[in-house]
Amino acid sequence: MAAAASSPPPTNRVDAFWHDGMLNHDTGRGVFYTGSDPGFLDVLEKHPENPDRVRNMVSILKRGPISPYISWHTATPALVSQLLSFHSPEYINELVEADKNGGKVLCCGTFLNPGSWDAALLAAGNTLSAMKHILDGKGKIAYALVRPPGHHAQPSQADGYCFLNNAGLAVRLALDSGCKRVVVVDIDVHYGNGTAEGFYQSNDILTISLHMNHGSWGPSHPQSGSVNELGEGEGYGYNMNIPLPNGTGDRGYEYAMTELVVPAVESFKPEMVVLVVGQDSSAFDPNGRQCLTMDGYRAIGRTIRSLADRHSGGRILIVQEGGYHITYSAYCLHATLEGILDLPDPLLGDPIAYYPEDEAFPVKAVDSIKKYLVDKVPFLKEH
Ligand SMILES: [Zn+2]
Repeated sequence: MAAAASSPPPTNRVDAFWHDGMLNHDTGRGVFYTGSDPGFLDVLEKHPENPDRVRNMVSILKRGPISPYISWHTATPALVSQLLSFHSPEYINELVEADKNGGKVLCCGTFLNPGSWDAALLAAGNTLSAMKHILDGKGKIAYALVRPPGHHAQPSQADGYCFLNNAGLAVRLALDSGCKRVVVVDIDVHYGNGTAEGFYQSNDILTISLHMNHGSWGPSHPQSGSVNELGEGEGYGYNMNIPLPNGTGDRGYEYAMTELVVPAVESFKPEMVVLVVGQDSSAFDPNGRQCLTMDGYRAIGRTIRSLADRHSGGRILIVQEGGYHITYSAYCLHATLEGILDLPDPLLGDPIAYYPEDEAFPVKAVDSIKKYLVDKVPFLKEH
């Protein structure tokens, strides 16, 4: 056998897409995400979606024990024309005008400031390039380490710190490139309402969201995230909401993955798997109450990997969303990627997990969601 001129890079690696320009989105300070100063606090805090959280995600992947498995890439900003595969031209014009006029508060906690639009275009561009990298066969697992986040951005509406739906744009690219079925599994603690809305009438994209049962939160987020939002028309049954009780924890998430996510994906047989990841489902996140620890994220990563190995030839795009604890989010990301790489032993210990778990309540909730979905959704009935 002739030796290859140069050996190909190892398959079991994560191709991470990142650009420093995404740090230039300045969300300001205030009372948590409000951007406001009530006048009676000596110390205001940074908006939770700030550059520091992502700086730590970059640095842990560059200098943590997982670093040998990460290969780094960067991409140029998305073109406005590329955004129209998911967003309406009117909405994109609104964002372009807001940027030209020096900024705009688009909805509660969602500030488009000078520099934000360029960062948003970089986030979309890096996510699209990460997907293209997989589609071109250059790697099997790509991670778009991006901000501002995207999964609340609807075709015509900003929401929840999000302007452009990075994952949604990547899914469209996959479909336009010949993928027949794409599954999106969103484990951010909030409902991935923007992605769901964009694909609500499609049966070639199965959107699954595991989230805190937070309901609608105003005009920018009219969707409830409840189990009965199943999709419409041809898309009926292809939006699967898994609202989980507060404090669900590692074992509750594992049960939801095993009982709901795995059977649905097995039936759907996706050609591409997209994991939309937010570390705000962690036990210490200021923006969530779901109590995952590194072990829980590792287990989810492993499950996603095995689904991808069985259906999509191991192809997984991971897209970064929320995760607001400045240090623990980075650790949970590390653990998720350890799971995705299916590494036999943890590379990094959990520095702070200690909350007790009570799985009885989440198990009951998952059983009841399962009963409802199996009854309503034709393609789930065979399980
Ligand atoms: Zn979130």
